[in-house]
Amino acid sequence: MNFIQTRGYDKSKPQSVTFAKAILSPIASFGGLYVPEVLPNLGSEFLNKHLNSSYKDLAKDMLNCFEIDIDSDVIDEALALYDNFDDSLNPVPVVKVKENLYVSELYHGPTRAFKDMALQPFGVVLSSIAKKRNENYLILAATSGDTGPAALETFKNRANIQVVCLYPNGGTSDVQRLQMVTEDADNLKVIGINGVFDDAQNALKKLLASENFKSALKEKHISLSAANSVNFGRIIFQIIYHIHSYLELVRQNAIEMGEKVYLNVPSGNFGNALGGYYAWKMGLPVEKIIISSNENNVLTKLIKTGKYDLRGLSVVGTTSPAMDILRSSNVERILYDMFGDERTKELMYNLETNNFYELNDDELKELQHSFDADFCNGEEGKKYIKDTFTNYGYLMDPHTATCFKAYETCSNPDIKTIAYSTAEWTKFSPVIANALTGEIGTYDIEALESISKVASLEIPVMVKELFNKKIVQNTIIEKENIQEEILKFI
Ligand SMILES: *Cc1c(COP(=O)(O)O)cnc(C)c1O
Repeated sequence: MNFIQTRGYDKSKPQSVTFAKAILSPIASFGGLYVPEVLPNLGSEFLNKHLNSSYKDLAKDMLNCFEIDIDSDVIDEALALYDNFDDSLNPVPVVKVKENLYVSELYHGPTRAFKDMALQPFGVVLSSIAKKRNENYLILAATSGDTGPAALETFKNRANIQVVCLYPNGGTSDVQRLQMVTEDADNLKVIGINGVFDDAQNALKKLLASENFKSALKEKHISLSAANSVNFGRIIFQIIYHIHSYLELVRQNAIEMGEKVYLNVPSGNFGNALGGYYAWKMGLPVEKIIISSNENNVLTKLIKTGKYDLRGLSVVGTTSPAMDILRSSNVERILYDMFGDERTKELMYNLETNNFYELNDDELKELQHSFDADFCNGEEGKKYIKDTFTNYGYLMDPHTATCFKAYETCSNPDIKTIAYSTAEWTKFSPVIANALTGEIGTYDIEALESISKVASLEIPVMVKELFNKKIVQNTIIEKENIQEEILKFI
């Protein structure tokens, strides 16, 4: 299958590209994104066939339906990485928390957040394409804490790929920072920036636009690619777990095959929610997708009012930092799917030039037919963490907690909900310790130990050993010096 473009076709790029091309250079005509020409229709036959399949068999068959230009042995190698999750037979456990609320845990991979679900297999796929074409790629990533560790972990020692990861020095949790600065491989470089996440992100954007930088790369025969969630190579792996989670509910006799469910997704860049939307379009029985946010609630406002309004807004720091996002990139793919390329181009142009767009009444109605939304502030989130632990014995992280508010405000209680848990408690331990015991200002290591005691949970080995690992990535610089530092590395 080929991939087409959300903002139409500007005649400078091919009208449609293969999967491999779409993931090597993910930006399409007019700054748009690539989307599949058609979504495969799986239907109830596919669901019935895979009722008792392993995660990998389900994944393999679903990927086959997309008919992508990736060799079958590469796909096998990519999917084999799910064997390294906590339970190789079931990398994504789905747990009943209360009444009609089930939580699908997407964090059982090596870096304890849901980014592993897509980045683990994506690393194998991208590296194998680069190798086959005999090309070298540089991946630049700016991270607020979860993407960086997952990208480093997946590309570590992979052929034909180098990774430079920028993080705000002091702006991540200790666990997140240690996950990055202890990564030891010749093809990885981790750089701390004196500044906040936006500084790292803006520096990176400037670099990507710099002719001087691009020609320096060209001289070394290195091309740029991207591993952020606009890359369809990540999205494709995020469709699978929605189908898997649904089948888990059928296997647990929580629902009958064909019964509709809510998917409740803690959202930032909308990759996770988009995966659910595609799964629905491909035949998964879904009632509605519920978008949960924190105080950066642009998505709630969009879905409630039809207005995407960034005027005068700036990102606020929250207790769920992976969702501290105002420009939610993958919403564009929804606009395209609902309203077509011309309208998407117009809306995105408005957003980019005026920081604002507004859907008309029919469009808003269509959006609300598929989505509902609410946001949860940090204090409410901590209350959900504490109450859910106290009343149901279930411990969750602050991102997951945002779903519990929208579960109460947006769902019909007779319909079952699958809420997605995107991070393990170990990644955001100071907030969780504060929610459970009231302690404040603790370092990760202290918070981990106190949660471990209060909740009788073991700290997983890969988190515990971080604190004894050698720090090998020592570079901390001013943002003005990023280009020089990167050129020194490659
Ligand atoms: C990335 C991330 C999210 C947001 O996911 P999107 O696909 O960008 O919407 C939510 N929670 C955690 C913990 C994350 O790392």
